[in-house]
Amino acid sequence: MKSAMFHGKEDLRIEDVAEPTPGPGQVKLRNAFNGICGSDLHIYYSPETAGLDFEHPHPLTGTTLPQILGHEFAGTVVELGEGVTDVKVGDRAAVYPMLHCGECVACRNGRPAACRKLGSLGASADGGGMSEYVAVDAGQLHLLPAGVDLSMGALVEPMAVAWHAVAQSRVPQGASALIAGAGPIGIGTWFALKARGVDQVLISEPSAERREIVSALGASVVDPVSGDLPAAVAELTAGDGVHVAFDAAGAGPAFTSGLAALRPGGRLVMVALHERPIEFLPTQLMMGETEIVGSVGYQPEEFDAVIAAMARGLYDTTGWVQEVSLDKVVDAIHALRTGAGAKILLRVP
Ligand SMILES: [Zn+2]
Ligand SMILES: [Zn+2]
Repeated sequence: MKSAMFHGKEDLRIEDVAEPTPGPGQVKLRNAFNGICGSDLHIYYSPETAGLDFEHPHPLTGTTLPQILGHEFAGTVVELGEGVTDVKVGDRAAVYPMLHCGECVACRNGRPAACRKLGSLGASADGGGMSEYVAVDAGQLHLLPAGVDLSMGALVEPMAVAWHAVAQSRVPQGASALIAGAGPIGIGTWFALKARGVDQVLISEPSAERREIVSALGASVVDPVSGDLPAAVAELTAGDGVHVAFDAAGAGPAFTSGLAALRPGGRLVMVALHERPIEFLPTQLMMGETEIVGSVGYQPEEFDAVIAAMARGLYDTTGWVQEVSLDKVVDAIHALRTGAGAKILLRVP
């Protein structure tokens, strides 16, 4: 089968490898689509800063390089391993890719995504989504109902990241929000806020192309560079400031402008990786009694919440999702690195 095999920094090859055999409790999935994530770019261009140590066997899975990439994927069950009874051949599913130790302080306290040995299919385990087939535990499948197709299924994972960020914000219905960044996670945050009944939402995004895409979806957008973000926030909230802000951009100004946009008691959610430290004055938090909270990954039940919202037709992929074939993965990664705005789904042959 064809797989995108990661050998090391800027070395990803389409290779022919043996098809996996599902072990006890596993299924063999024929992958249909796999999304390219920002974290895949981090792994490809700077594995040393991607939060993963590829020099040593992974502490949870024992995996070393080379390995198949891809953790945002959906496909169809083609074979059942021993003892699998709750899934059948032909079922279509999105795959919950994260692997947790189940024992550390994060796992013991209901924060599996913050597991100290966190692993993931397609990043630190055998098998991933950039491949014709993968063997996964049946418990990692989240079945797709009729009406949610497999390309939408590959978007469940990034949309669940955004869904979890909105849960972390604890935003009440009818409140106001600012999202910095209109990449896939920013867009997903906008949809997840809508699902919660939060309609007073402003997106700040410096790229004209991305602004055009989100405003076509119906979002209010502002250019934080040449526009006046504080004035736009004041106009949205009658001068009060937003209840919650999201840094889905991973840039210093996204963080500082998000904090500055909050009303007293407001909350900033960090849902982006930052490559560099930034400077800010903590007094800002004190004077406004504001909070900053991190958000990483998602809970399994948030996968189901996203799938249910997809079945209700909440997610419109117009303009921000593109499909290319698996062979073109390296070109697609290069294009994303140079700032192409869309979510790219790899179509698996
Ligand atoms: Zn991802
Ligand atoms: Zn753990």
